[in-house]
Amino acid sequence: GKRIVLAARPNGEPKPSDFRLEDLAVPTPGAGEVLLRTIWLSLDPYMRGRMSDGPSYATPVPVGGVMEGGTVAEVIASNNPGFAKGDIVLSRVGWQTHAISDGKGLTKVDPKIAPVSTAVGVLGMPGMTAYTGLLDIGQPKSGETVVVAAASGAVGSAVGQIARIKGARAVGIAGGKDKCDYVKKELGFDDCIDHRDPNLAAKLKSACPGGIDVYFENVGGAVFEAVFPLLNAFARIPVCGLISEYNNFGETSPKWAGAMMRAVLVKRLTIRGFIVSDFAARHADFLRDMSGWVREGKVKHKEFVTEGLDSAPTAFMGLLKGANFGKQLVRVGPD
Ligand code: NDP
Repeated sequence: GKRIVLAARPNGEPKPSDFRLEDLAVPTPGAGEVLLRTIWLSLDPYMRGRMSDGPSYATPVPVGGVMEGGTVAEVIASNNPGFAKGDIVLSRVGWQTHAISDGKGLTKVDPKIAPVSTAVGVLGMPGMTAYTGLLDIGQPKSGETVVVAAASGAVGSAVGQIARIKGARAVGIAGGKDKCDYVKKELGFDDCIDHRDPNLAAKLKSACPGGIDVYFENVGGAVFEAVFPLLNAFARIPVCGLISEYNNFGETSPKWAGAMMRAVLVKRLTIRGFIVSDFAARHADFLRDMSGWVREGKVKHKEFVTEGLDSAPTAFMGLLKGANFGKQLVRVGPD
């Protein structure tokens, strides 16, 4: 087997030498344990946070430790009565081909419901993030305008489609023409703007003639600056992620923090950060609704797969820069 460990804490953008591929002696499960073989490794932006030891809601990966990550795995040996050989499970064993588990934290995945990779995608953590952040915090109403960036990605694609299901207008922001075309034509968003367009602010304004009622914040930076003046009174801003800032751990300049807080007051904005686990109580609702929407074709999703565990560092570095087109997965072993 193989595993990928954090070799060094990145300074700014992660680079190949911050990761190290190591051989792994496939372990033997003890009493009550199972041996897992990884099929799919999910790569997600939050992993950038785990590589640094700045203050966060989660503890960082130690230097020399296996990179953290959600996986879909097959039980290939079991001494645990709760799991049989051949079971497919959702687990969090990280960037490795094999792992031992005592069964705690493993969830069985039913391959009959959907392809098992969806357990880390549209029917898993990113889908749940979109569902809870949009519905519980954003609360879009029929006829309102919802804006989301990283709109072709795992979270953003679901946000816009759920907004449409709720009768709202969905305006996406994405990097490049291919992604924007996909967001409009395949996902059915009402419009999509390229965030690299030098006229982003003006284009966004004409795409949102009635202003913005819900801004699902995935990126921060220049996109937020274009969105902010268009927010309507009583707009809601679920703050899900700030991917444009993840490589900057220094203090960022509060150059317009004062003007922003004034607008928060005058427009009575609701800005609420969240981590998907805050909404654990909504998991059953999410699975019921989202699996229905996926089955009915109302929520489409796209996977972006790289092959082999060794591809994970390059794929992850690409994810932070928009090289992925859809939910980033690594196929670690055969289905
Ligand atoms: P995506 O599949 O959307 O991939 C990341 C995308 O971010 C890239 O493809 C790129 O798309 C976009 N991006 C990168 N840099 C920039 C930039 N400077 N400006 C604008 N867009 C940029 O990832 P996810 O769907 O998994 O995650 C989306 C967001 O949700 C992230 O911020 C993530 O941290 C957050 N998140 C938060 C959770 C929570 O619990 N709060 C849980 C899960 C995710 P493009 O080419 O279109 O620019």
